[in-house]
Amino acid sequence: MTDDELPGWARKSKSGWMEFQGRHGLTVDGEPGLKTLAKVLEIEKAFGDQPTRMTTPPDGFTFGGDELKRGVSRDPHLLLPGFAAKVESLFARMRAQGHDPMLWEGYRSPERAQKLSDKGTGIKMSMHCLGAAVDIVDEDDMWKATPEFWDCLGDEAEALGLTVLYRNGRRRDRPHVQAIPVKDQSRFRGMTEAARRDHVA
Ligand SMILES: [Zn+2]
Repeated sequence: MTDDELPGWARKSKSGWMEFQGRHGLTVDGEPGLKTLAKVLEIEKAFGDQPTRMTTPPDGFTFGGDELKRGVSRDPHLLLPGFAAKVESLFARMRAQGHDPMLWEGYRSPERAQKLSDKGTGIKMSMHCLGAAVDIVDEDDMWKATPEFWDCLGDEAEALGLTVLYRNGRRRDRPHVQAIPVKDQSRFRGMTEAARRDHVA
């Protein structure tokens, strides 16, 4: 196992542990002691089959990598290039403010979109299917990230001209960031692939 294959928490620095401890109301000493590790296990358990294993991002990007869950793509190269570049900037801006964002899902296959639609947890022609949406969570706490994390994600995404769904009527879908405003979605769906590339460039 190389260093990159270890979970995020196993690669934490002292200041990283201090931040984690502060966030979870533990004694802040920067040492992963028993109580701190118990908290890590509790979080891992809460997410069951959704491991927080980090992988090496592909060339040209500092986010994404191998799938964490089967069929859930984390490949930045499958996003529209102009959008992928903005997401790269979004990660940089969030990290500069001390956050550890992680790409959970990028491009979504029509088959997976159909499955989610059947379950009632997604839509068939999602912006993900067009390479125009990403879901970003916290590397440690995933969907249970702090309000500060979601505020930072929203502010920085909007500063880059991106759209965050939780600020546009979908309050529960906090990780979702997309390339275009909600009102432009149907027009965008009707465009050719080439036109979509230009539109988000
Ligand atoms: Zn999404």
